[in-house]
Amino acid sequence: MLEAVKEIDYNEARSYYFPAASQESGDAYVACLDIALRFGWKVVLTHVFQPPCMYTQTKPSSIVIRPDGGVSRCISVYNDDPDFSGGNIAASDPMFENTDIGKTIEGNAEKCKVGKCPFFPVCMTGCPSYKKIHLKTVHTAFCRRGHLEKIIQDLGRLQNKQPKAFEQLEF
Ligand code: SF4
Repeated sequence: MLEAVKEIDYNEARSYYFPAASQESGDAYVACLDIALRFGWKVVLTHVFQPPCMYTQTKPSSIVIRPDGGVSRCISVYNDDPDFSGGNIAASDPMFENTDIGKTIEGNAEKCKVGKCPFFPVCMTGCPSYKKIHLKTVHTAFCRRGHLEKIIQDLGRLQNKQPKAFEQLEF
């Protein structure tokens, strides 16, 4: 259920439900979380606070290899988009390393630095595949700060309301 809310959050075609990364989608997420905890379900909050993704690593710890040998640096991108391609494993010089990623993130992070955003270590200017699909470039930030701040506020309320159940949450 929580993954479904996240999908809606990221799905521009369904923006009539919740604008992506909005405070409203944060509300919906915590409302679902509240219900899940009442049922005693185990909930892992990495749905919300996603760790830095494989794409943000200069030397990726994981890559995607397609049946034709093509390598993608993002688990959600399966085509030859040059922003995500790591060459082909059959090539003599496959380029698994994402050498320019530091510069790309740095270039996208002006607002993050000015605002001293506490989420930077996990956000790193946002999901690259989302940016490419919806914003048409990876050279920009996809900011979820308002969304994340709202979720943290609401998690505090939830902790007061259901302290025992809250302990079941995994971060
Ligand atoms: S949440 Fe927004 S301001 Fe914070 S690091 Fe991400 S893109 Fe930058």
